[in-house]
Amino acid sequence: MKDIFRGCIIRFDSNGTGLEFLSDGVVVVGDGIVEFAGDVAEYDGQEVSKSQNVILSPTINLHDHAFQPPGIPGELIVFDEEKKELVGWLPTTLKEGEYAAKQDKEVARRMIGSRLETFAKNGIGTILEYATSSVETVEAVLEEAEKIGVRVRVGYVAMDQGIDDIQKGLQTTSVEALESTEYLLEKYGPEKICVIDRFPIAVTSPTRKGLAELARKYGALYETHMDESINEKKIHSDIYGTKSIVTTLLEDSVFEPGSRVGLAHAIHANADEMKQIQEKIRAGCTVSIRACPNSNAHLGSHWDGDKYVRFPLQAWLEIGAIITMGTDQGAGRGWNIFDELLDERRRHPVDKKPSNVELLEYATLNGFKSLGIDLHAVNIVEGNKAEFIVVEMAGAEGFYEVGTCNKDFEIVAARTIEGGQLPENIKAMYVRGKKVV
Ligand SMILES: [Zn+2]
Repeated sequence: MKDIFRGCIIRFDSNGTGLEFLSDGVVVVGDGIVEFAGDVAEYDGQEVSKSQNVILSPTINLHDHAFQPPGIPGELIVFDEEKKELVGWLPTTLKEGEYAAKQDKEVARRMIGSRLETFAKNGIGTILEYATSSVETVEAVLEEAEKIGVRVRVGYVAMDQGIDDIQKGLQTTSVEALESTEYLLEKYGPEKICVIDRFPIAVTSPTRKGLAELARKYGALYETHMDESINEKKIHSDIYGTKSIVTTLLEDSVFEPGSRVGLAHAIHANADEMKQIQEKIRAGCTVSIRACPNSNAHLGSHWDGDKYVRFPLQAWLEIGAIITMGTDQGAGRGWNIFDELLDERRRHPVDKKPSNVELLEYATLNGFKSLGIDLHAVNIVEGNKAEFIVVEMAGAEGFYEVGTCNKDFEIVAARTIEGGQLPENIKAMYVRGKKVV
């Protein structure tokens, strides 16, 4: 039994530097393996009619919190001067989501299972999840991902300082955090496990140094939040004197040559901080940014008082950081990476907007690069395990004659993003040879 798809093909070019576009192609899958992927003119199998479908790599969601329920209102984190405690969205979501998951693995399984299924229906094939501060919740994520067929990178969330009274039992000791992370890396390897520093205000320097060392030892990705909101920066400098979050990460050896680091949000880094990171990139550290536009908007993370601070997309690109996307549920409201791309594009002035082709790179190629996954192994080419989605482009029905408007890559990319934001337009998804949707 073979599956045959016809449509535009968007895949990685042979150098792995960008995307390649075929305006009318065919992909044939047999037993989970791509038997043919190329131009319709070179195809001599069973006839298949033209369509408004696009065949491309599944999207990649590189920032999500497995056990944070969506739908909680409020600002991220605020210090209540009267109560003398931290309040806001984060403390609430920790109690209702992560704490519940940590108490009961079955609860954890249900939470993550339905979450990953929803991502899959939206065409997301690879997801990076922050679990919580328990080995069992990490294992629940791995087991449910295996059942559903999506690829995950997941980590034990280290946090050993600062906000214990609101974390309600989520805080651990440094020893627990380091031993649990090493246990998971030893057992499952860096292809499945990443190292997670919740955010620098919740992790002590000795623990962070230990985590950075583990990431280097096992070749694992180091993930943290950085400069998400102005309040976070202020609380950070209260804890660490006048140090910036970037300085703390630098001093704790997070950005070493050969290290692979993922930074979520990264809105409020200033030029000087970016320059320091640039030096580390030049020295051989791979730095990726997890743009989470939906979450940033919901939490009001762009605002510095009454001043709107735009996500510094161009500045990150200029210093050589890899731009990737994340839903950041539950702060985010969306389950769909195409929707995040539309949101990101909307937030930039007309002359600085990323092109639609570039947006597709953030959501596919850059995600694999960031994870250190060989692009050749996951590309839509003959002999590979099938890994792609089939998306019906927006604006096709009754407007264009089928197949006639498929010539221009930028237009196809725009219509793919617009079509893909609706789960009903995700017609199929394969990940590592398995048909997931
Ligand atoms: Zn987050």
